[in-house]
Amino acid sequence: MRVNVEKLCSKLLQIRSLSGDEKAVVDFLKDLFTRLEFDEISVDRYGSIVGIIRGERPGKKLLFDSHIDTVGIPKPEDWAEDPFGGQIRDGRVYGRGSSDMKGPLAAAIAGVAEFVHEHGRDFAGDIMISGIVHEECFEGVAAREISKKHKPDYVIICETTDLKLNYGQRGRMEVRIETFGKPCHSSNPSEGINAVYHMAELIPEIAKVKLGHDEDLGPGIMELVDICSQPYPGASVVPARCLATYDVRTLTTDSAESILASINEAIDLLSSKIPDFKAEASLVESSAVCYTGEVISAKRFFPAWKSDPDSAESRAILDAMENAGLPRAKGVYSFCTNGSHYGGEAGLTVYGFGPSKEEQCHMDDEYIEIAHLQKAAEVYRRICGNLLGLED
Ligand SMILES: [Zn+2]
Repeated sequence: MRVNVEKLCSKLLQIRSLSGDEKAVVDFLKDLFTRLEFDEISVDRYGSIVGIIRGERPGKKLLFDSHIDTVGIPKPEDWAEDPFGGQIRDGRVYGRGSSDMKGPLAAAIAGVAEFVHEHGRDFAGDIMISGIVHEECFEGVAAREISKKHKPDYVIICETTDLKLNYGQRGRMEVRIETFGKPCHSSNPSEGINAVYHMAELIPEIAKVKLGHDEDLGPGIMELVDICSQPYPGASVVPARCLATYDVRTLTTDSAESILASINEAIDLLSSKIPDFKAEASLVESSAVCYTGEVISAKRFFPAWKSDPDSAESRAILDAMENAGLPRAKGVYSFCTNGSHYGGEAGLTVYGFGPSKEEQCHMDDEYIEIAHLQKAAEVYRRICGNLLGLED
């Protein structure tokens, strides 16, 4: 069976699937994979779906990875298009998740279906397509189940790359910093310790923390993203606590421990200089409920990853691109993907290739170009032949 990529993309866009509410898309994919005669279809405890096509001969396992959750629509009135209409118009498919990333998923399915249409099961190895839940806020966490159960050898992250080969991304970490003071009436502040003043001393010290620079991934970044005193509002009370959150963009040489250690150095320095200075830094933890009822939770450190841009696998993908009429262009992601798990945690051979551009994700009137969808499907089809044909 062959798949019309823009029609499949449009259908997927008509099924709402905010993070934690992806069941309807999973049911749709289960039915589609069944009609496409996949050999195995499974849904895990978080609700992510994987469909597998097994070649006649043993070989490597190739995974095309996509997530099926989308971000919401904060202001529907700012959309000219129906976010859940899946309109196909002027060479584009419109809707929430078209670029991020139901379009790329549709292209992966269409490409694999075309490969099987041509070759049947006359190939070595397995081809797997994943539809992962809860990626938007938990990059790579639900993906842990996939690599544990299905053990892919090669992972293609289908997130948008503007039809380039992406071979890495910075990681992401959320650090919570808390200063502790002593409350008192603000008419007599000398009786207390103002935690906000202590935070104000700490922020410039944290700004001095040296972060690395990667020639491909760019600089490590540590940015203050929110700050809050307690009690809030203060109402004549000297605040006893102050909380700040930092968004950290990490490199492959960083770990959660190494970043926290450099922040703790700044804290120790001030503790030795300022009487009663007390502060703590910790990794933010969060959890959410999956549609299956399972709770997904994570310490918010999603590591960076970088694969060899000149490996045999990389060349096999670049050949697929070139044979599809694309330049052999390489790059890296600026946002975080499930590659954090596959590359950063599991150490697998991971590359990104996908239609559309990063700046088209999460925007009002999100769309994807049909020409990109078709080109990506062709490259995915060729990747199946090229990667599964690689000698050990
Ligand atoms: Zn995405």
